[in-house]
Amino acid sequence: MSIGEDFILREKKYSAGVYAKRNIVVVKGKGARVWDIGGREYVDCVAGNGSCLIGHSHPEVIKAVEKQIEQLSTCPGIFYNDVRASFLEKIIEITPKPLNKVFLSNSGTESVEAAVKLARKHMGRKRVVAMKGGFHGRTMGSLSLTWKKKYRAPFEPLVPGVDFARFNDPDDLRLKVNSDTAAVIIEPVQGETGVIIPSENYLREAREICDEKEVLMILDEVQTGLGRTGKMFACQHWGVVPDIMCLAKGLAGGLPVGVTVAKEEVMDSLSQGEHGNTYGGNPVICAAGLATINVILKEKLPEKAHEKGRYFLEKLREECNIGEVVRDIRGIGLMLAVESRFPVPKYIKRAVEEGVLLLTSGTNIIRMLPPLCIEEEEIDVVVAVLKRVLSGEIG
Ligand SMILES: *Cc1c(COP(=O)(O)O)cnc(C)c1O
Repeated sequence: MSIGEDFILREKKYSAGVYAKRNIVVVKGKGARVWDIGGREYVDCVAGNGSCLIGHSHPEVIKAVEKQIEQLSTCPGIFYNDVRASFLEKIIEITPKPLNKVFLSNSGTESVEAAVKLARKHMGRKRVVAMKGGFHGRTMGSLSLTWKKKYRAPFEPLVPGVDFARFNDPDDLRLKVNSDTAAVIIEPVQGETGVIIPSENYLREAREICDEKEVLMILDEVQTGLGRTGKMFACQHWGVVPDIMCLAKGLAGGLPVGVTVAKEEVMDSLSQGEHGNTYGGNPVICAAGLATINVILKEKLPEKAHEKGRYFLEKLREECNIGEVVRDIRGIGLMLAVESRFPVPKYIKRAVEEGVLLLTSGTNIIRMLPPLCIEEEEIDVVVAVLKRVLSGEIG
């Protein structure tokens, strides 16, 4: 038996088979690299599905977590806590005004669930307009806002009251919002669907439609937030501020966290006991989150994502634009996609063998969400490997 095979066999035996597994046992990470159990090194463009924004095992997060877990490892929301207060304040320091109230949970999907409950309660209306192609999570509420049929169909009936509008189409949005609509939910850049970047005016027009029709705008920045796209939040590319914003991936150094931020008058419509959870605001996570935001600010990661992203995209366009295989190459900051004319799983598998870890979107899109600290030499490695595996198709 080769090294690590035992772990693969046991995971296969005991875990739900819901993930398209890469055949390696990952045991260590540092910055934008991970190592498998045999000591083989990889450049990591999966990065915890984008949650490892500041890089694997960042020393500041390690320090904060170690210190906090020795001090106090749990503290439910019914008590006040020192590190939680500082984390909340830090979140509000970086989010656009007038977003100034926070609800804490443990994942992206939970941050969306909270946003929708909040919108329904505040507006006293039932319906939500979501986007075709949108992704908001896998629990029943956020799944109901998620477009992809494969994710939805086996689990119907879903939560009623969702209307879908075409992404990037203000006229369709205007049509779908009615007097029973509480909110519109949008990913500023559609991630899971394959890094779909809206046209220059779309988000501003969507904001205007929400204002005109007096409904709330929820932006799901779970994937795009915290510097990923080259600004602290993707909505800042287009000067738009939502009424409610969802955050998660990347906010706690890869540890589980969900954050729903809202305007005060919106958040205040939830009364005591109307929402809550056990782990949200856990002090160890708050310490990791506080350290993470400080790292993002200190290391100027949004600016880095902008510069490195531009370098990455240029390189990809120079090296990987293989006409017979590649349909499109696009990106914003360090959120990148290479759309192929062929199914991509075989490229993903070959790239693993060549030391590069990649994500997919659907069957034909390779997606990359590297840590924002990725170095140019590491980007060069990714591009070289992609070029080789993509041209293998025609070679
Ligand atoms: C990943 C993601 C979610 C779901 O987050 P989980 O932590 O996996 O529940 C929701 N919205 C967007 C835009 C995402 O990318």
